[in-house]
Formats: sequence, C-alpha cells, structure tokens
Amino acid sequence: MTVPTPPTQQFASDNYAGMCPEATHWFMQANASGHQPGYGEDIWTQRSTDAIRELFQTDCDVYFVFNGTAANSLALAAMCQSYHSVICTPVAHIETDECGGPEFFSNGSKLLITEADSPAARLGKLTPDAVEQLVTKRSDIHYPKPKVVSITQATELGTVYSVEEVRAIAAIAKRRKLKVHMDGARFANAVAHLGCHPSEITWRAGVDVLCFGGTKNGLPIGEAVVFFDRALSEDFAYRVKQAGQLASKMRFISAPWVGLLENDVWLRNARHANAMAQRLYGALRDVPGLRVLHAPQANSVFAQLQPQAIEALYAKGWKFYQFIAGGGCRFMCAWDTTPEAVDAFAADVRAAHGG
Ligand SMILES: *Cc1c(COP(=O)(O)O)cnc(C)c1O
Repeated sequence: MTVPTPPTQQFASDNYAGMCPEATHWFMQANASGHQPGYGEDIWTQRSTDAIRELFQTDCDVYFVFNGTAANSLALAAMCQSYHSVICTPVAHIETDECGGPEFFSNGSKLLITEADSPAARLGKLTPDAVEQLVTKRSDIHYPKPKVVSITQATELGTVYSVEEVRAIAAIAKRRKLKVHMDGARFANAVAHLGCHPSEITWRAGVDVLCFGGTKNGLPIGEAVVFFDRALSEDFAYRVKQAGQLASKMRFISAPWVGLLENDVWLRNARHANAMAQRLYGALRDVPGLRVLHAPQANSVFAQLQPQAIEALYAKGWKFYQFIAGGGCRFMCAWDTTPEAVDAFAADVRAAHGG
C-alpha cells in the first residue's frame, strides 16, 4: 500500500509560507555586514525606516516589532488611556486573536464591538453608522470613553475597504474626536487589490497609526508600526522595550524589509497571493454542495463545505482552518502559493463533494 505524500503547500495560513528570496537576500547582507550596533541603531534599520517614509511620502515615525499582536496592542496602548475604549468589529483580530493584549498593554482600555449582524459586518467591515451608534450610545462617566476606531485592512474575511470607505470612517472619527488605527497585517493585499497609492488609504484618508504587516507578505518575522500622527509615538520606544519587543539584533528584522520594499516586491508578493485566491475561487464556486461565502478581494477564500468533505480533505493531509471569523472554512493563499497547489487542492475539494 502506498502512503499518500502530504501536500507540500497548505491553505491554512499565509504564515505557513517561508521568506521570499528578496527578504532572504537582505537578511544575509545584514549578516555579511559584520558588526553592527544593536537595538535599532544600525544602518539597516535606518535604511528600511527611510524606505517606509519614502513609500508613504511622509515623515512618519516607524518602529519594528516581532509580530502583529504586539504591533496592534502597543499601538492601541499608545493611543489610549486606561479609561478609554476602542471601537472595532466582532471579528477583529484585536478582539478575537490577541489574548487580551490590547487591554493588557493599555492597562484596561475596553474594546467596544459593533453589531455582528449587518451586511457590512458579514463582510468583516465597520461602517460610519456603526461607529456613530457606539459613540453616541453612552456619554456618561460610567462608560469607557471611545477614543480609537480600529479597522482591519484587508479585513479578517478577505474583503477590502475602498478608499471612500476608509475616508468615511475617518471622517466620523474626526468629528467624534477619535483616532484611527489600521491593523494592516495584510495591508499589502489591500493595496494590491485597490491599485491605489499606499498613502491614499492611510494618512491621506485620515489614518493615524498603521500596523504594517510584513510577516504574511514574505518576511521571516517582523511588523512595522507606522505613526502618521507623530505626537502619538511619544515614548513609544519605551513601550516597545518594556513589552519585550525591542530586538537586540534589530537589523535582522529590519534588513529584510529593504528587500520587500525595493522594486515593490511587497506589492508583487501580494498581487500573486490575491491572484491565487481568485484562481481558487474560480475553481470552487461551482462545486456542487459547496457555498463560497463571498467573492475574495484579498488572498483568502471562505466557503461552507460538507462536513464529510472536510474530513476527507483532512485525511488527505490538507490543512485549513474552520470557523475563523465566525463561519465556513478559510483557505488562505500566500506569496509563494503555486497555481499547481491551488489546482490540486481544488480538485480534491471537488472530489470530496462527489463531483
Ligand atoms: C495575522 C494577523 C495579525 C498578527 O498576528 P500575529 O500572529 O501576532 O503576528 C494581526 N491582525 C490580523 C488581521 C491578522 O490576520
């Protein structure tokens, strides 16, 4: 009997993928540059922060941390006092997947969750109305004061806010004296989908702080916290250090960013991942007995599968998550997902549904 060889690529998470060649190249260059100062005082950190400033065409403050949970938690902590609150969706990563990090690092700021049952919510999005509703619900001293609106771009459901949508949310935020935080763990996928300049959906639209994801886009490790409102970054370096997020050999986090930003590799990687999600969507949408939940805009496809089909796919060695963000199976494509892997997986999904 032959033992089936497990698939070499998976659709569980874009974190399953390794680092892209350009990131690897600059990682090795940083190593080849010999002794360098620690804690971010090196030439590579200088170079990559300058590259991020150039990319966004503005003089922003940039800090590198190990992961997205730290980026979000520390950014929100910098934007809030302990008696403040942060408005987000019920599927927001900060709400569902950070183990209370934002509340912990802010010493108690509460997350205020918008309603789960609206057309926008079903696409993982906040709306100006939902923000307005939460802000005006209470204004008494007994309720934590809303201070930040947090949106995820691309969303946890693989959808993307348009420039107009970001602007509208930021406008209501401004009117209500709220700051705007963007969880951009998949920011690259959103920009790739929109085809806009990265500044257009961030500071030009009213975003104050962006957590710019690199890991899922082809870095070995590391996210950038980008402060467009530089007043908010006061003492942020101390926060990063206290949280255990200041890398001693920072250059190995920052140098790979040079590779990602040079020649728009970050966009190329994201465009590829998005295209693979479109390919998968195309292959799955007419599988009998399977329901794709919505058309993908970023790099994931969400679908309701037959329970026995899920079992059959797991038995074949495929790995993917169920019930991420409240429904269906999530199939995530990465910067290196091959068309062959998509086709092989889609064929197995079809076979598992008897067709
Ligand atoms: C992956 C992800 C993060 C970061 O998660 P870490 O595992 O802490 O790096 C943050 N927000 C969203 C929406 C994510 O998908």
